[in-house]
Amino acid sequence: MIKEKKSGQLIIISGTTCAGKGTIVKELVKRNEHLKVSISYTSREKRENEIDGKDYYFISSEEFEKKIANDEFLEYAKVQYGKYYGTPKKEVKELLEQGYDVILEIDVQGAKQIKELFPETILIFILAPSMEEVKRRIKERGMENNEQIIKRFQVAYQEINEINKYNYVVVNDILEDAVKKIEAILISEKCRVDRIEEIAVENEEEIIHEFLMDKDFENKAFKIE
Ligand code: 5GP
Repeated sequence: MIKEKKSGQLIIISGTTCAGKGTIVKELVKRNEHLKVSISYTSREKRENEIDGKDYYFISSEEFEKKIANDEFLEYAKVQYGKYYGTPKKEVKELLEQGYDVILEIDVQGAKQIKELFPETILIFILAPSMEEVKRRIKERGMENNEQIIKRFQVAYQEINEINKYNYVVVNDILEDAVKKIEAILISEKCRVDRIEEIAVENEEEIIHEFLMDKDFENKAFKIE
């Protein structure tokens, strides 16, 4: 009876450093066939454990700037250490048209740009349970020097100040709970009245509807078979 809009929903997942958004996104995509994650382009160096074309498309700053000039990004920003990060327009558009819900795992600057272009985007912010826990996770990763860690903290505090631009906030204390919360958000978003394209009425229901709307209703006999 209810026909939902065919095109998928755009979902932004941002979060403070070490909030675990990458793990959450991987889990969401593994469990939900209708979800796809957009692979961004970046001009930052590939890390040892990363795969080109899976984690990011790694390109040079010059190649990135060419893509900017060709209008190939839905959004882009210089996120860390002056490196570019951007969401490809074509891939995201195709996935949405195929009916997939598409997750963009992007920063606050990118989220703002997307929200302006597509106001119906669902914006979710992931928080680590505490900054103490963030410190512990950074040390555990052991990848960065002191200066880089301080920079990460600065960005994290700036991003927390922007939480009011988001629709939902999820604390990632226990991974399973965080994933379930996001799944619940996505299910309820699907039930929003503005996601309905059409309410189709079957033949018999239409007759009943017409009868009930009739001004002369009181004086008519009506039988529901
Ligand atoms: P990392 O270098 O640690 O993989 O990512 C650093 C930050 O860049 C993360 O906060 C991530 O959300 C953000 N990011 C990744 N891809 C994009 C993108 O396409 N656009 C924007 N604006 N930010 C991105």
